[in-house]
Amino acid sequence: MAETVFDIAVIGGGPAGLSAALTGRIRNKNVVLFEHLEHSEKLQKAHLVDNYLGMPQVTGKGLMQQMLGHCQAHQPTIIKKKVMNIYPGDVFTLATPEEAFQARTVILATGVVNTLLFEGEKDFIGRGVSYCATCDGMFYKDKKVAVISYTPEGEHEANYLGELCRQVYYLPQYKKESSGSMRDNITVIAAKPKLIKGDTEVESLVTEQEELAAAGVFIIRQSDPVENVLPGLELDGEVIKVKRDMSTNIPGVYAAGDCTGKPWQIAKAAGEGLVAVLSAIGYLESKPKAGEK
Ligand SMILES: Cc1cc2nc3c(=O)[nH]c(=O)nc-3n(C[C@H](O)[C@H](O)[C@H](O)COP(=O)(O)OP(=O)(O)OC[C@H]3O[C@@H](n4cnc5c(N)ncnc54)[C@H](O)[C@@H]3O)c2cc1C
Repeated sequence: MAETVFDIAVIGGGPAGLSAALTGRIRNKNVVLFEHLEHSEKLQKAHLVDNYLGMPQVTGKGLMQQMLGHCQAHQPTIIKKKVMNIYPGDVFTLATPEEAFQARTVILATGVVNTLLFEGEKDFIGRGVSYCATCDGMFYKDKKVAVISYTPEGEHEANYLGELCRQVYYLPQYKKESSGSMRDNITVIAAKPKLIKGDTEVESLVTEQEELAAAGVFIIRQSDPVENVLPGLELDGEVIKVKRDMSTNIPGVYAAGDCTGKPWQIAKAAGEGLVAVLSAIGYLESKPKAGEK
């Protein structure tokens, strides 16, 4: 466990998260921001953004570089890891695959899961469905598993599982070229998954073409369903339920950006990031400092 207890942990480095981290630093708080991929791959895909006030006719990539540079100039701690789980307590513990971190408040800025969940996915979470090979791979030693990935990051996960498991089926759901070689016991399958099947635990993954026997199904998306990251978080349909101050039902946890619902727009994300961090600062100031070592 890292020693520092951060004032504010921001999960997600898109417009909402960067906006929150920037103002957190301007208000002199000790801020950590977690981003496991490129900052907002989604925004970076936008050829032209013309509705972000003050920045006419900018590319998504260009806008993201400006936002990131601006935020970095104020020196938040940026950690290039995925937050897999958040555990509430005296302070929050944030688990990444390799290491855990602590913070007094949390701002969720994870964007939206832009793919539908698979039939059976929710039913088997913790019973064969996993979102992290490093965390759960050992449970599938010498077994057959499937990896469904929406990002090339999944190739590393599949290779790691290939070291442990008897057989890995890798189902890439992205268009990018493969970033490297895969181990011999990994079979790449170009098919759309449809259904995760089993009785009390996962037994197979059904694709459009066939049924693959698998004891585990690893799903690697840009963002995971947020209720899996922080159990007990109240949702409003598929998005996080927030009040006007961006607070959630869990004291000390705020949310901002696409993960709180439509409109899915940069200006809303940046604005909500600002509101969320100001609310988090208000919360910090209203409480005695927990977790001081
Ligand atoms: C093609 C395209 C064009 C668009 N054009 C426009 C436009 O012209 N104008 C406009 O206003 N909007 C546009 N949008 C929408 C805009 O991109 C989004 O509204 C905006 O990016 C939302 O910001 P966000 O910070 O909430 O989420 P995101 O930008 O999705 O960022 C979330 C970040 O969190 C990271 N993350 C998720 N989970 C974790 C975790 N557990 N640990 C660590 N990191 C995590 C993700 O990797 C991601 O980088 C467009 C979107 C697309 C796809």
